[in-house]
Amino acid sequence: MKKIVIATKNAGKIREMKAAFSHLPVEVVSLASFGSLPDAVEDGATFEANARIKAHFFCGETGCACIADDSGIEIAALDGAPGVHSARFAGVHGDDAANNAKMVAELEKRGLDASAADYRCALVFEDTDGTILTADGRVDGTVRLTPRGEGGFGYDPYFYVPRDGGEEKTMAELTLAEKDAISHRGRALRELVKQLERYFGK
Ligand code: IMP
Repeated sequence: MKKIVIATKNAGKIREMKAAFSHLPVEVVSLASFGSLPDAVEDGATFEANARIKAHFFCGETGCACIADDSGIEIAALDGAPGVHSARFAGVHGDDAANNAKMVAELEKRGLDASAADYRCALVFEDTDGTILTADGRVDGTVRLTPRGEGGFGYDPYFYVPRDGGEEKTMAELTLAEKDAISHRGRALRELVKQLERYFGK
């Protein structure tokens, strides 16, 4: 059975991938099982470039096939920012409240109360022989100044998507299953699963 290390310390992402790959001849392991490893330098200009950097780096560090992801939000009125800098838009990595405050401030500065936006997710699988598979997922929506909902994380309370009947909901108002069905990450993961099924001859 091929061992695949998932290049994340996020237990939720690992659980999600274990479930998605359960019918494949692979053993999904977390980076944590390799003890302390250095961090990859994520200096790519695109989500896919960063996912490739991480997959290649941790494939080398662990000697296992590796899957890495990178994701973020692109806001049209901000010329696609924050993009690959989504996690640290306001300066501190992972400070969702500060990132959202900055997004709202940037829209207000431009006299806007909304902008078209999208979430993107790139997933890259690198095997020990150098084989690379890539998958990209995207969801389009609108960011607005007023947050709604308690679920999700990151920019979700401000990211509105059209729902049946013409109403809009934020990603933070959807259940996990509803979000997964339309989200950038869900779409990229289902695409990667299809490619891995072909790769492993399933
Ligand atoms: P990462 O790829 O998990 O490091 O995510 C990068 C950053 O993009 C996160 O810290 C969030 O700010 C943002 N992001 C990515 N996916 C989502 C999402 O599904 N909802 C809200 N924010 C997201």
